[in-house]
Amino acid sequence: FSGQVTLDGPSGTGKSSVARAVALELGAAYLDTGAMYRAATVAVLDAGVDLDDAEGITRAVTRAAIGIGTDAATERVTVDGAEVTERIRSTEVTRAVSPVSAVPAVRRLLVDAQRALVADATAVVVEGRDIGTVVLPDATLKVYLTAAPEARAERRAAQLGVTDPARIAAIAEDLRRRDAYDSTRADSPLRPATDAVTVDSTHWERHETIAAIVELARE
Ligand code: C5P
Repeated sequence: FSGQVTLDGPSGTGKSSVARAVALELGAAYLDTGAMYRAATVAVLDAGVDLDDAEGITRAVTRAAIGIGTDAATERVTVDGAEVTERIRSTEVTRAVSPVSAVPAVRRLLVDAQRALVADATAVVVEGRDIGTVVLPDATLKVYLTAAPEARAERRAAQLGVTDPARIAAIAEDLRRRDAYDSTRADSPLRPATDAVTVDSTHWERHETIAAIVELARE
């Protein structure tokens, strides 16, 4: 395979682990753009900027040196040289990433960085929300990965070790609310490209989703 595969979709579909596995199978490079928004959020939090202050957020992200590799086999993210690979997954960062990624100047900075990171790759899988629509509109294959909120909630619960049905139902409700919010915001980054193939993984095991996408890429 040579070319660019974009993998967009809501959270809780197992998108990251699927994207990484697809890249490994195709022998392609891999870029997790969510990790970049998360690293930018670390810079904002460390600068002590208020999350309502779009200018302060932009300043903090402009100054920060975000380091991210494109090797599918290893994950290492840095901000100003300090490793933040684990910290970007913390609740603190997950809570703050939405307001940071909603700032248009932040999106412009990161979209430029994303394009530069993959410019020289012969084969690459890029994962996020707006990759097929904004970052790489001329990609070889665009995949929009979805799953029913219930299925996403069950996967999320399994990750967190939650087994109580009432708590799983609450997670599904939260995902449904966020889907509705994301798809009604006029500037929402989350929508399928018109030329994207939608892959619904509701009734699939992870390995089946990976195989289906690898097959699409090789077609
Ligand atoms: O995919 P992940 O959950 O790591 O992404 C974290 C957050 O970064 C998302 O909730 C979204 O707010 C933002 N994001 C984005 N555009 C992307 C990737 C992520 O706005 N291309």
